[in-house]
Amino acid sequence: MQKEDCIFCKLANGEIPTTLVYETDKVAAFNDANPKMPIHVLVVPKDHYASLSDDIPAELLGALMKAVPEVAKATGIYESGYRVVINTGDDANQTVKHVHVHVIGGAQMQ
Ligand code: 5GP
Ligand code: ZN
Repeated sequence: MQKEDCIFCKLANGEIPTTLVYETDKVAAFNDANPKMPIHVLVVPKDHYASLSDDIPAELLGALMKAVPEVAKATGIYESGYRVVINTGDDANQTVKHVHVHVIGGAQMQ
């Protein structure tokens, strides 16, 4: 289910046009608007969950994680490596309250 006025709900479900890096019936992946690395993709569920702490069904969590290496393949970082981050809550600086998996890569990290 989508949440009114949630930007990631709209991006994931095509209500705001964007180029999807990867998509299944359950998840969508698109480029971060403010990339921190040469490749910076966000993988999100098409249904709204506020964060990783929002009692996400295991099947959907699996779908999100299964999408990550597919995003890495689609963006050319599967072989070189990538980092996966899920910021959750205020201390982690989660700014968008629709759960999202950062997939970052394309350069050597610290
Ligand atoms: P957080 O800090 O919540 O883990 O990360 C939110 C991310 O979403 C940030 O990296 C930010 O650049 C990105 N972001 C915020 N608004 C938008 C948007 O409207 N479109 C896209 N593609 N990315 C966004
Ligand atoms: Zn949402």
